[in-house]
Amino acid sequence: MSQPTNDFIPAAKPIIGDEERAAVDRVLLSGMVAQGPEVAAFEAEFAEVLVAGRECVAVNSGTSGLHLGLLAAGIGPGDEVIVPAFTFAATGNAVRLTGATPVFADIDLDTYCLAPQSVEALLTDRTKAIMPVHLYGHPAPMGELGRIAEAHGLMVFEDAAQAHGAALDGRPVGTFGTFGMFSLYPTKNMTSGEGGMVSVDSEELGRGVRLLRNQGMERQYENEVVGFNNRMTDLHAAIGRVQLTKVQAWTRKRQDNAARLDAGLQGVTTPAVSEGAEHVYHQYTVRLPEELAPARAGILDRLKNEYGVGTGVYYPIPTNELPSFQEPADLPQTRVATATVFSLPVHPSLTDSDLDRIIDAVNTVVGEARA
Ligand SMILES: *Cc1c(COP(=O)(O)O)cnc(C)c1O
Repeated sequence: MSQPTNDFIPAAKPIIGDEERAAVDRVLLSGMVAQGPEVAAFEAEFAEVLVAGRECVAVNSGTSGLHLGLLAAGIGPGDEVIVPAFTFAATGNAVRLTGATPVFADIDLDTYCLAPQSVEALLTDRTKAIMPVHLYGHPAPMGELGRIAEAHGLMVFEDAAQAHGAALDGRPVGTFGTFGMFSLYPTKNMTSGEGGMVSVDSEELGRGVRLLRNQGMERQYENEVVGFNNRMTDLHAAIGRVQLTKVQAWTRKRQDNAARLDAGLQGVTTPAVSEGAEHVYHQYTVRLPEELAPARAGILDRLKNEYGVGTGVYYPIPTNELPSFQEPADLPQTRVATATVFSLPVHPSLTDSDLDRIIDAVNTVVGEARA
């Protein structure tokens, strides 16, 4: 048996260094901290680095990004937007907050992303859009979803909160839909402290999101629509600009870590990568055999307490079953995923010996649970 260790390996570890601190200090010293030139520069740089030059609009969170994107695209009461049930609640929340109805679809168990055949079964004459999530950093099947959308005159919105730099056949996520949203929360693949970035497919939509984030104003006191204050500050943008120079190297390290885990883990289903997909491993999520579902909590306790390995369960409850929604739906793959998945550390700060320890811990503890 491995020795218990004090040196805990956390499930996620934001990397915020001297350059980020210096960037914040530079903005503080300027005396102008609210939305200004840093935000504009961050938007332009994010567009170049991550979404092939598509226009980007920065906001104060990923959730705001989804909400404003939906509103600017005209989604509202009476509309239905098909979303996966297996995701963070923000996906469905954003739809509900516009007054529209989120319709919860099932996933494909291989990739944990929205299943096109489930989407097709839920189409009605009120369906206005499909909003796939590039869950864990794996791109959703945008080709098939795009064909369904085209056949039925629907928009596609991308929840790319977890997928900075993910791509399908070389095309980055956030460039497929009417809009895409990237979260900049600290545990995501890059951060601005809190924040979100919306990539848009037209100038008109970009203008719509810009108006909504700032009280409906383009020129001061000439409010054109009723809007929010969902602006990003220059302090946050300054952090994000530094992180943007590092995110691609961090992604390569995540992918290397994932390859090592793939090669070493036994007794669990390791993440699949679809043909043509670039997975950026926001999470490295494995699945237990279904008969071990009742043992999951105990396995994760042992990984933490005996081996110092942090884990997470994303997500234990389908959105439609949360107390905030309570909408029964028959989603068999989602049910399997919620009961059997757990995520292991894959972040760029892991050392080779951390990875060996994670592999040894999982193989031992899951092996004993199977015995
Ligand atoms: C993090 C996340 C969001 C929300 O982003 P915030 O920046 O936390 O508001 C939305 N969708 C998914 C899938 C997420 O993981």
